[in-house]
Amino acid sequence: MSSESLLDRLAILADAAKYDASCASSGTAKRNSKGGKGIGSTEGMGICHAYAPDGRCISLLKILLTNHCVFDCHYCINRKSSNVRRAKFTPQEVVDLTLAFYRRNYIEGLFLSSGIVKNSSHTMEQLIEVARILREEHDFRGYIHLKTIPEAEPELIHRAGLYADRVSINVELPTVAGLTRLAPDKSAATIEGAMKGLKHDIIAAKDERKRFKSAPAFAPAGQSTQMIVGADAATDAQIVGKASALYDRFRLRRVYYSAFSPIPDASAVLPLRRPPLIREHRLYQSDWLMRFYDYTPAEVQAAAGDDGMLPLDIDPKLAWALKFRERFPVDVNRAPRELLLRVPGLGVRAVDAILASRRHRRLRLEDVGRLTVSIAKLRPFLVAADWRPTLLTDRQDLRALVAPPAKSEQLELFAA
Ligand code: SF4
Repeated sequence: MSSESLLDRLAILADAAKYDASCASSGTAKRNSKGGKGIGSTEGMGICHAYAPDGRCISLLKILLTNHCVFDCHYCINRKSSNVRRAKFTPQEVVDLTLAFYRRNYIEGLFLSSGIVKNSSHTMEQLIEVARILREEHDFRGYIHLKTIPEAEPELIHRAGLYADRVSINVELPTVAGLTRLAPDKSAATIEGAMKGLKHDIIAAKDERKRFKSAPAFAPAGQSTQMIVGADAATDAQIVGKASALYDRFRLRRVYYSAFSPIPDASAVLPLRRPPLIREHRLYQSDWLMRFYDYTPAEVQAAAGDDGMLPLDIDPKLAWALKFRERFPVDVNRAPRELLLRVPGLGVRAVDAILASRRHRRLRLEDVGRLTVSIAKLRPFLVAADWRPTLLTDRQDLRALVAPPAKSEQLELFAA
């Protein structure tokens, strides 16, 4: 048993879990109220947010079972050669913490991951034990996200899905070469094999439940993964291609992108600086384009420059429109939904509102302007009842005209 108090270990293991991006709050600016100024902080850890299968945003206790690890992934603060304070919980301690936080209404579920102790199967058994005690001994109905260890016995990975709402296996790096170099104990084939097994189990359980209502659920919130961005030389085009292949092959609910962040005592094979956070944001936008705007991976990749990198100063949808100007302008009163979704500045909700309103009347530019953050961004790309751009798409300075001022980045987040 560890000599550290439970609270000390909670501080260590909640902090160690913050590097996992599989919660929705990564990417924001760092702010805190240390020194008595202001109130609140974006830097706290321990509780993160995720979306439940019904779309609700829920708060989760996000911790590691232990930050001891026998693996030596270069990018990870918990790798065996890292000089960090180590701690571990027993499964029962994690259960007690989860229930205590839950009863106080701090959380609606648990996000549990772990470094690898002894071996992968032993660690997986410990993670499963937490979920088992919660579900079987306490009838815990809250949300459970279990990180799953790909090197563990397949039977154990299967058991994780019987208790967890969501399971995830980190693919870690976008390329096999990057994984081999930076995570020498891991294998791309093993990771993908485990993801394939989960996909199979999720589909089989869904089919079974259609036939028998009493059939056990298996990871009803599906599986997700995380890719580290900027720790190796992979380009955005490669990352987009990898994400798309993962969605297709393993029916993932989400791919999370985590900008590599330099850690204390970093390995010499890592870059010295983290990539700009906006790069992570652009990748999330490109992911959004593929999942909700019907862009093919090749189209998103075409928005990148010759170096394979997405522009940082404009979003990928605008970058694509500027490159393929011949596809515009789009007539807001006649174009089908898929073409309207290509107009920079028009989000899914705005397009649906346009389709509903134009059944009753012809829309003017002003009507469309009410549905979007920036009419300036839209104007060159659409035709309305009272508006037709004149040769705007041929203008050399179009990019400068429609690029957002640097400070409007936050507003732009997923607006289109
Ligand atoms: S397996 Fe690798 S990424 Fe996971 S905790 Fe250990 S060193 Fe970190």
